[in-house]
Amino acid sequence: MDQLMETAVTELFSVAGKTALVTGGSRGIGLMISRGLVAAGARVYISSRKAAVGEEVAAELSKVGFCVSIPADLAEPEEAERLASQVMQREPSLEIMVNNAGAVWAAPLGQFPASAWDKVLDVNLRAVFLLTQALVPALVAGARPGDPARVINIGSVDGMRAPGSMPWDAETYSYSTSKAAVHHLTLLLAKRLGPRGITVNAIAPGPFDTRMLASTLAAHRDAIIAASPLGRIGEPDDIVGTVLFLSSRAGAYVNGAVIPLDGGMVATR
Ligand code: NAP
Repeated sequence: MDQLMETAVTELFSVAGKTALVTGGSRGIGLMISRGLVAAGARVYISSRKAAVGEEVAAELSKVGFCVSIPADLAEPEEAERLASQVMQREPSLEIMVNNAGAVWAAPLGQFPASAWDKVLDVNLRAVFLLTQALVPALVAGARPGDPARVINIGSVDGMRAPGSMPWDAETYSYSTSKAAVHHLTLLLAKRLGPRGITVNAIAPGPFDTRMLASTLAAHRDAIIAASPLGRIGEPDDIVGTVLFLSSRAGAYVNGAVIPLDGGMVATR
């Protein structure tokens, strides 16, 4: 490849200088995404409940680039509003928003508590809507001709199927429902926000090694790997690569997509 072409391709996938907000950026998949965006030259705000952990992560990532933590409990609607206004006080525009924070609850049918239903739906679904809605002015300001602002929702393959057929499938009624709803919300917002220069897409991860999946992997890691056409679980580069594609000019024409990121486990089952 000649030098000119190489530079053009590198630029195509660049997010350097873009400003991003990653909810749940303090650990797990959100930390993988934040680390990748910072390494790629984006200015990254992370948010989660535990302020001390957020500070620690922001300090670590600040050794590589720009990272600031703004703690918020996204289960509370007014906290989503506060987070949005704090981001907008600091930044004239937002180019990338990753709705990643999430919670899960498992309990058998007949014993599933109403409180756990609300807890999961509040964070996984309502917060995605409220935070995105509140940040639309900043995203509109971040949209450029040929390079729209991006909303990336982290759904789940559990929102694309009815878990229950594999030995590791837990009874996560509110979780799977919330993720299917996030995928649908992605379509609704893609339609409304596309004309305003904002794309909205979802990534639906399969198994990644995080705190959320720790007990499942401790009990079933080998069986999960054996059930995967690629013979492995998700790695940080897998989620980072997908986010960089969706966030850069390379992904500028992708809108309303729900991208399964599971090595083909669900598609080939
Ligand atoms: P995780 O390790 O448990 O991390 C969850 C993150 O969300 C943490 O940063 C946590 O920080 C934050 N969070 C939780 N409740 C919050 C609240 N009320 N307000 C603000 N932040 C909150 O989980 P993960 O596996 O990385 O999951 C990240 C996303 O990927 C979730 O949406 C999950 O559903 C999705 N996903 C994960 C997998 C997987 O295999 N791991 C598969 C499919 C989809 P604090 O506790 O400090 O608030």
